[in-house]
Amino acid sequence: MKAVQVHAHGGIDELRYEETDDPELKAPTDVIVKLRAAAINRLDIGIRSGEIGTEVFFPRIIGSDGAGTVVAMGSAVTNVKLGDNVCLYPLNDCGRCDFCATDREHRCAERRVFGERENGTYAEYVRVPGRNCFSIPSGMSFEEAAAFPLVYVTSWRMLITQAEFRPGEWLLIIGGGGIGTAALHVAASLGTSIILASSNDEKLAKAKLLGAEHGINYRNADLAKEVRRRTGKRGVDVVIDCVGGDGWVKCLAALARGGRLVTCGAIGGAHPATDLRRIFWNNLKVFGAAPGTRAEFRQLQNFFEVSGTKPIIDRVYALQDAAKAQRRMEKGKAFGKLVLRIGD
Ligand SMILES: [Zn+2]
Repeated sequence: MKAVQVHAHGGIDELRYEETDDPELKAPTDVIVKLRAAAINRLDIGIRSGEIGTEVFFPRIIGSDGAGTVVAMGSAVTNVKLGDNVCLYPLNDCGRCDFCATDREHRCAERRVFGERENGTYAEYVRVPGRNCFSIPSGMSFEEAAAFPLVYVTSWRMLITQAEFRPGEWLLIIGGGGIGTAALHVAASLGTSIILASSNDEKLAKAKLLGAEHGINYRNADLAKEVRRRTGKRGVDVVIDCVGGDGWVKCLAALARGGRLVTCGAIGGAHPATDLRRIFWNNLKVFGAAPGTRAEFRQLQNFFEVSGTKPIIDRVYALQDAAKAQRRMEKGKAFGKLVLRIGD
C-alpha cells in the first residue's frame, strides 16, 4: 500500500510518501480499515519531530484520525461487519484495567494515540481494535468523518465534561486551531456568548461567521481588560485555553468569580507565572483535559446526529501532499481541520 512514513525524527522533509507492506490482522479483536480520509493534528508534528512519543520505531506511519471501510476483521469482533463505513476513535488502551473496564480509559496507563506507538492513518490501510470503529454520523462524508475525532472528543471533554458548560454562559476560547474551532462549533450550537481570542485577524473574522460574538487579537490588546470591557466588567464563566504561555495569566484574570478554566495546550509556553491569590480569592476551578473517552465519543456522535452540523474543515489535500498540509499547520494558518483524501 501507499503511506506517508517518518524514517527519523526531524523536520517536514522526514515525511516520505512511499510503498510499504499492508497491515495484517494480529488479534481476533482487530479490524483492517481501508482508509478514505485522514486528518492532521498538531500531535502528528510532535511525534514526527520527536517532541512526543515514548517508544520509537522507524519507519513509522503517523496520524491519529481516519475514516474508511472495514475490509477484514478478526473472529471476536462483533460491533461492525465487513463493508461498514466507519470513523475511528483515535486512541488505544489496554482494555483490561479497572479504568478501561469502567469507561474511564482516559486514566489507563497504556493509553496512546494512533501513530504514537503503532502505525497510524496517513495510509491506505490501518489495523485498529474493532471497538475503536464507530458508525459515521448521517450525511457526513469520509473527509468530515476523519476531521472530527481527536479535536472534537478533546474539546467535548473540555467544554462538557470538565467545565460543565451551560447554555447562556460566557465562554472565552484561546486559539483558532483544531480544538479551538471545535469548541467554538459545539458551544455556538448550545446558544451562548462566545469570545474567540487569536493572534490572527483572518481567523477572528472566520470565527464570527461561525458564531463567535466577539473576536480579540491578543497581540494588539490586553486580553483580560478587553474581556472585562465586553462582558460589562463581569468576566467569562469558562475559558478553553489551547495555547498556554503568558496568555494563561490573562485567562485567569478574564474569569468571573467562580469561573472555570480548562487547559489542553502549551504551544505558547509551559511555565507561565501564576498569581495563586487570584485562584483562591475568586474561587476559580482549573482543569486539565486529554482526549475524551469512548463514552464521550458516543455523545459527540449523537451531537452531530441531532444537530445535523458538520466539523469545520480548513482544506483537503491528497495523501501524498501530507507535508504541505503539515506546513500549513506549522505556520498557524489553518482555521479548522486539515484533511487528507486517500484513494480515488
Ligand atoms: Zn487500561
